[in-house]
Amino acid sequence: MAQVDVLPEVTKFIESDPRMVIGGAAVAAASGQTFDVYDPSTGKVITHAPRGSAEDIDRAVAAAREAFEDGRWTGLRPGKRSEILFKIGELIKRNIPELTQLESLDSGKPVSIAAGEMWMASEVFRYYSGWPTKIFGETNPTADDMFVYSLREPLGVCGGIIPWNFPLVMAVWKVAPALACGNTVVLKPAEQTPLTAVRLAELCLEAGVPEGVVNVVTGLGPEAGAALASHMDVDKVAFTGSTEVGRKILEASAGNLKRVSLELGGKSPNIVFADANMKRAAKGSMMGVFLNSGQVCTAGTRILVESSVHDDFVASLVEATAAMKLGPGLDETTGMGPVVSQEQLDRVTGYIDIGKGEGAEVVTGGERATDLGDGYFVQPTVFAGVKNDMRIAQEEIFGPVAAVIEVKDVEEAIEVANDTVYGLASAVWTTDLSKAHRVAKGIKAGTVWINTAGQYDPSVSFGGYKQSGFGRELGAHSIETYTQTKSVWVSLK
Ligand code: NAP
Ligand code: MG
Repeated sequence: MAQVDVLPEVTKFIESDPRMVIGGAAVAAASGQTFDVYDPSTGKVITHAPRGSAEDIDRAVAAAREAFEDGRWTGLRPGKRSEILFKIGELIKRNIPELTQLESLDSGKPVSIAAGEMWMASEVFRYYSGWPTKIFGETNPTADDMFVYSLREPLGVCGGIIPWNFPLVMAVWKVAPALACGNTVVLKPAEQTPLTAVRLAELCLEAGVPEGVVNVVTGLGPEAGAALASHMDVDKVAFTGSTEVGRKILEASAGNLKRVSLELGGKSPNIVFADANMKRAAKGSMMGVFLNSGQVCTAGTRILVESSVHDDFVASLVEATAAMKLGPGLDETTGMGPVVSQEQLDRVTGYIDIGKGEGAEVVTGGERATDLGDGYFVQPTVFAGVKNDMRIAQEEIFGPVAAVIEVKDVEEAIEVANDTVYGLASAVWTTDLSKAHRVAKGIKAGTVWINTAGQYDPSVSFGGYKQSGFGRELGAHSIETYTQTKSVWVSLK
């Protein structure tokens, strides 16, 4: 084991029992209640976070509303907002060692992986820092005696409700574009991983974001989350999480018809054709499904393999899987950490039993890993002989479980790939250029990776087809979803 030493600032933050950030102040829940925060690598409670309720959401929304209406952020010169956003990115970068450890302790993810995510979070802020000076309306050609122009304006108070799988990255995907467009924010992180969201709010203040512009309320979904989703004074909610909760968010939006964007679950196909570079495909497919212990909405959990290479590919996949080390998050040599919680552990091992019961063959893994103590470790598991109508091929497991499905040709690959209610992402492995593009066009999903998997960039839009949600995040698309346009008519007579 190469366990890293916990930094003093991480210990201090955890021992201080983190607060929420409302109106620029560090506050406890109005009720005084807290909830436990666990380290998934040990199964032990490491700290407590405020259990924010509807009352706290009211306080946060009021602070965000006041900050929006008085123009302390929206009214700043765009160049100034740009400078502050860049500074947030730089502060995240400077604090990568601390944030990495906090994220690892909170979520169980290996520090080697978490460090890359912290980098990505800083890059997203730098990307959006370029936008405030480039958001503008148009002039419209109408009658000669009219002058018509449009203003592109912020929406107002934007809520963000996020999951635990990429806590800081998900927070930043919501907060950075919202701020770039001049909105104010109330963020509700997942109860399993509240820590880095609180640090983000602190870093925003440190960078010069005025008080009340970024508020973070920690708490439980049915309490704080539901209050935010249904709040009558919130103009938009951006949600990432399960399809089940996504439906509730949409229903809750009906009260004041707030804008909603939903990034939901997936059961993404990862297609390996016979002409693929097998070594690359095996390693890429392995990472595509087991990264972050499979707790990735885009995970390529359905591995569709052309019949003629099926057995060889499965052998290579098992070999690639064996080369990845399972271990605690703070161990630098860990390739895959535990799943996030006891609840998730039960869910994932439950699905493994379902797969066995459905008659799929376990070719590697298939059990909880008990040799690593009380942490929530699951062996990376590959099922072969899976039929696409089995539950392990249709339902999102959100754990390290891959289902290998044999397909006979391109047509069947596309048909099986699309035989799902989801449509978030997909990957295709082939050396035939025409086939790659043909399949990319045929797949109903928001992202297609060709000879790669799990790629993201702040400039590339991300989102789902079908029940994987709607709305796009990142890139210029986020700017559209955090603004609205106003048409202004001027008579020249
Ligand atoms: P989740 O239960 O849907 O939770 C997501 C967020 O919603 C959490 O902050 C949660 O709070 C909150 N929430 C729960 N019930 C709520 C309610 N009634 N009203 C308002 N908010 C509520 O999902 P999860 O357990 O965090 O993550 C696993 C699922 O999320 C998987 O299905 C996965 O596919 C999906 N996911 C999708 C993406 C994507 O980009 N499309 C990314 C990551 C995860 P609590 O933490 O207190 O429950
Ligand atoms: Mg949940």
